[in-house]
Amino acid sequence: MFKAIISNAMKRNDYLCPKCKGHLNAGGFVIFSTKNKRKQRGLILLSPKVGSYSVKHHDGYKFENGEFIDFFCPICSVDLRAKENERNVEIVMVDENDAEYRVLFSRVAGERSTYLLSNDDVEVYGDDAVELDDLYEDSEY
Ligand SMILES: [Zn+2]
Repeated sequence: MFKAIISNAMKRNDYLCPKCKGHLNAGGFVIFSTKNKRKQRGLILLSPKVGSYSVKHHDGYKFENGEFIDFFCPICSVDLRAKENERNVEIVMVDENDAEYRVLFSRVAGERSTYLLSNDDVEVYGDDAVELDDLYEDSEY
């Protein structure tokens, strides 16, 4: 299991907006348009490597640990908040074998959790990840 996760994380991954299917990757990062609690807007660049939590943004665009950040598609501007759990952002990932996954990651600043969902499998990354049952706690389904 652990070995499988490492090999998956090393692959080249394409990230797509679930609505417009536009590519979110550019220049070695995954790019989002975002808004913090103080209604300031800024771009956030994340690593395309699943389970990596390096974040790049303008020095003047700040947020505090625990702050909820709104993530939007930089192409079509759709709100990327996950339907099942609003602590998370949901996008689509396509790996080098053309397998498609739903990727959910925390939109809370400083929180490290990522969920990779395919039809029959879930992979969980990050120190702050919860059990999948808890992930769907707020589900309306
Ligand atoms: Zn879009």
